[in-house]
Amino acid sequence: MNRTVDVLVVGAGPAGLAAAARLAAAGAGRVEVLEREATAGGVPRHCSRPGFGADARGRALDGPAYARRALREALRAGAVVRTGVSATGWAGPLTLDVTAPTGLERVRARAVVLATGARERPRSARLVPGTRPAGVLTTGELQRTLARFGPRRESVGRRAVVVGGDPVARGAVRTLRAAGVAVTAVVTGPPSPAVAFAGVPVLVGTVVTELLGRGRLTGVAVRGPDGRTAVLRCDTVVFSGDWIPEHELVRARGLPLAPGTRGPVTDHGYRTTEPGVFAVGNLLRGVEPALVAAAEGRAAARAVLERLGGAPWPAAGVPVTATAPLRWVTPGLLGPETGPLLLRPERRLVRPVLTVAQNGVTLRRERLGGTLVPWRSVRLGEQWTAGLDPAGGPVTVDAEE
Ligand SMILES: Cc1cc2nc3c(=O)[nH]c(=O)nc-3n(C[C@H](O)[C@H](O)[C@H](O)COP(=O)(O)OP(=O)(O)OC[C@H]3O[C@@H](n4cnc5c(N)ncnc54)[C@H](O)[C@@H]3O)c2cc1C
Repeated sequence: MNRTVDVLVVGAGPAGLAAAARLAAAGAGRVEVLEREATAGGVPRHCSRPGFGADARGRALDGPAYARRALREALRAGAVVRTGVSATGWAGPLTLDVTAPTGLERVRARAVVLATGARERPRSARLVPGTRPAGVLTTGELQRTLARFGPRRESVGRRAVVVGGDPVARGAVRTLRAAGVAVTAVVTGPPSPAVAFAGVPVLVGTVVTELLGRGRLTGVAVRGPDGRTAVLRCDTVVFSGDWIPEHELVRARGLPLAPGTRGPVTDHGYRTTEPGVFAVGNLLRGVEPALVAAAEGRAAARAVLERLGGAPWPAAGVPVTATAPLRWVTPGLLGPETGPLLLRPERRLVRPVLTVAQNGVTLRRERLGGTLVPWRSVRLGEQWTAGLDPAGGPVTVDAEE
């Protein structure tokens, strides 16, 4: 079946739903959101703790309540949200192949907003050797498993090891404990974790070298910073963090990925390099709070509406890249709008001096007051790129301690 819509949003998480709500409310025509899961709302649906802002009366929202509200707002504004429907590829520049419960479709749109989120890299992508026993999960899989089956022993085990050192790993520890699972240890790589793990031993500078067990996991082999090895007995291991954008549709279309984020390169209007195709939310760079992803969805609506109104697609802006010890900076292109830069370090940086330069000429250099950590982004205001030559060469952002 071939159909045409005005805006096709892929992904009904906070970013996609917020974009759809804003676009539908602004009279963008038929705004259709595709969600491959049976329920809309994205990751927050499985985050049962507060931490998603507050409702109109100031009561703290948990993830499922936040997700329901985001869906309600999109529907109320007039967007169509279709669940159990996956975008599987491209049939043309603004035409997506879609698999729905009713069969295959080809949907053409005047604008496409990609909001497919990010995922934690599973054990296979982290190249952890060993057998393939049950009990090996990412934090997202842990939450989905608990949401679906409850704290059953066969799904979440009795004794777990968590791999990772950031707040998402801390969330995994809390989730496991709340499900009655003992957490033996948190295993984390080189950066010293400033995250507290509520009494769980934290093995810093340690890596998992092998998964043990057949059928069900029986333990993980680890190697410490001094080269010594040990086996941690457990029947569940949770690999947390290490995000990678869900960029399959971006790659299928041949759009450039930013090397640091592995998400699509966009400008401040969330335009990719393909006319009519936008990208928002965690797809751009991995996990930020839901409120950030939703704000990006809303902000993208402005450029989408301009596009629908016939505005020409701007020429690609000035490329921006981060150099070590910074991991990434977004957006990857500057122009035509101005806006802040979001960046993350690879490791903990105490009061670093940041430099933004174009063609090697410093635009701004300043010591930051605090400490940068790998799991939290820093926002550099527009003053950091004031004086930028929109027709000039590439911009770099670097840091030194
Ligand atoms: C463990 C954990 C705890 C968190 N806790 C908090 C918190 O306390 N507070 C907070 O603010 N944030 C929290 N976050 C972050 C927050 O959940 C995310 O930032 C937010 O969900 C990102 O929104 P998104 O729309 O970009 O992506 P997602 O929420 O990931 O949504 C993307 C959607 O796209 C769908 N999709 C992907 N590909 C396709 C396709 N091809 N076709 C159709 N649909 C597709 C997916 O199924 C998904 O529903 C947490 C995240 C995690 C993992």
